Amino acid sequence: LDDYQGLRVIVTGGASGIGRATARRFLELGARVCVLDLRPEGAPAGAEQVEVDLGDRPATTAAVERAAELLGGIDVVVNNAGISAVGDVTANDDEEWARVLSVNVTSMARVTSAALPHLRRSTAAAVVNMASIASYAGLQERVLYSATKGAVHAMTLAMATDHLPDRIRVNCVNPGTVATEFVDRMLQGFPDPVAERAALDARQPTGRMVTPEEVAETVVFLASPRNASTTGTSVAVDGGMYGLRAR
Ligand code: NAD
Repeated sequence: LDDYQGLRVIVTGGASGIGRATARRFLELGARVCVLDLRPEGAPAGAEQVEVDLGDRPATTAAVERAAELLGGIDVVVNNAGISAVGDVTANDDEEWARVLSVNVTSMARVTSAALPHLRRSTAAAVVNMASIASYAGLQERVLYSATKGAVHAMTLAMATDHLPDRIRVNCVNPGTVATEFVDRMLQGFPDPVAERAALDARQPTGRMVTPEEVAETVVFLASPRNASTTGTSVAVDGGMYGLRAR
């Protein structure tokens, strides 16, 4: 494979937001896509769908196997599903810590380990993990969420090292604040959601949130079979939020 044509891609959380835009972009480029999601019916037309709670290991293993059957193998895993958590270090109880770590971090290990035999057989194997600017920038009131995304970032490096001999590339994307349902839901937790949304726009040097399509473009770039020397790296898609200071 030297192109997206016929590339077999699984996208977790592909029924909404960044994952849906990513699934759609792969389809436009000629790839075959299977979406794994709690509620897969939001997946773009043309994508296969498997319903699964990625917090459950046996169910996740079975879902990845089903996706491999539907696609006839797996070349690319996009570990995108994730949930938000708001608050300082006092805000979340152990149950919430366990749930958010399970969905945001452990699920990526579950999905990737189930996909590994298929990736090892692929000539264009790549894993793209969805981290966040929260993995390296101190965001207010995001302690638990940041802990999970820092883990995703570090895990990406370790996985890239382990699977170099298998010729499986592993990279991650660090989006800034992206206008998706995820942000809409998070804003409902604030006393003044409208003011908080304006603050999120203003926090980006570009003056607006990132679009899901902009993140999708970076995912397909990292997954490209032509991008064969890029592994163990991260790409920010954050409107300059981290690197730029003067405005
Ligand atoms: P979203 O809420 O719009 O979509 C997430 C999808 O994941 C949904 O379809 C949901 O059903 C699915 N999902 C959640 N938990 C699941 C589970 N246990 N099993 C199966 N599917 C599950 O979110 P989004 O904004 O598109 O975020 C996607 C990823 O990008 C997440 O990992 C998120 O942390 C990350 N991210 C988002 C932003 C942002 O500002 N929106 C910024 C940086 C990183």
